[in-house]
Amino acid sequence: MSDKKHGSLPAADGVRRASHHRIDAEISRIETIPIRLPFKGDFKIASGGVRLGIDILIVRLHSRSGLVGIGETQAWLRQGSRETLASLNSIIHGHFAARVIGRSAFDAAAILSDLEEAVWHSNYAIAPIADAMLDLQGKILGVPAYELLGGRARESVAVGITLGIKKDLGALVAEARSRFEEGFTSFTVKVGEDLVRDAEAVRALCEGLGEAATIRADGNSGMDLAAAMKFMNRVKDLPLDAIEQPLPPWDLDGMAELALRYDIPMMADECVSAPEDLLAVIRKRAASVFQTKIAKNGGAWRCKALWEIGSAAGLRIFPGNHPGASVVTAAALHLATAWPGPLLEGPMAVGVNEILAEDVLTEPIRRVGKHMHAGDGPGLGIELDEEKLQRFRVDLV
Ligand SMILES: [Mg+2]
Repeated sequence: MSDKKHGSLPAADGVRRASHHRIDAEISRIETIPIRLPFKGDFKIASGGVRLGIDILIVRLHSRSGLVGIGETQAWLRQGSRETLASLNSIIHGHFAARVIGRSAFDAAAILSDLEEAVWHSNYAIAPIADAMLDLQGKILGVPAYELLGGRARESVAVGITLGIKKDLGALVAEARSRFEEGFTSFTVKVGEDLVRDAEAVRALCEGLGEAATIRADGNSGMDLAAAMKFMNRVKDLPLDAIEQPLPPWDLDGMAELALRYDIPMMADECVSAPEDLLAVIRKRAASVFQTKIAKNGGAWRCKALWEIGSAAGLRIFPGNHPGASVVTAAALHLATAWPGPLLEGPMAVGVNEILAEDVLTEPIRRVGKHMHAGDGPGLGIELDEEKLQRFRVDLV
């Protein structure tokens, strides 16, 4: 495809691509803003030490209209994510910018295909560009992003809560109870560090919350097959809705074995980045539930493609996110609002609803109990707080 520059179609097609090119939608500049948002307290998962905050890259696509599209990604640095803030920034400015600037935000599919070609499987860098184009399209047309994703299919989206690894089980149950009283009914507890204690934590939650709550455990790739079987044997009598990614992302055979041996469903998370990963999970019957995340899977459009594939295969969908600012929450929320099929109550708002002490929006996304509402404003319907962007800005190293 050597004649493919700036997305123009080959002349042989007889299509004058520029005929529909909206000059106001032309992207003139990419701005990246690296920030670090602090966690409320210790947040511990199976791998890596306790972290104080999450590294986030906010991307703004400036257009000739003067309207600006907003996207977000994170440098999560755990299984499934190898990018740093500096490498994300370098991919975007060094390899993506020339394939984005000068093109219309409405040519998103062709642009995203070119980005995939430029840097293979760079979902974490593609996500903020994709969502910023979606936001920009909505702002230019004056319609909410969910209308561009299929239209409103539900009034609100119910979301769940994530509970980090805690030594004090009493504190864990108390935290869950207080969120339950707030209206949340879906809980994911992190496990994978000490399987005896993990099993006790899951049991304590089931007993502490009762049948009105849906409880899942997330191993975050922290177990090997032998440990996972020991863990499963300790919790198999509990009414768990799913065990999420107990094994490393590469061990689909192990996940399939667990899925076959135990009644509790397996959920795929870290092992699903691209569509071919999800197809492998489906073929091996390694999971019957899967989780998407805006950054991990390359933005709202790519998550939607995974949802189509997964639902066609009979898998349940768990809409999530890494801890992040509310830009990714908004992207997942608009996608879920436009999804007509069933969705589990996933942790798409894990950042601001739960784990992070700060956000970068001028107005928080509306939430009543566990129900989040996508606004009817144009695009993602959110506005960045400039003062906070400055306050939490970090240098790239
Ligand atoms: Mg997970």
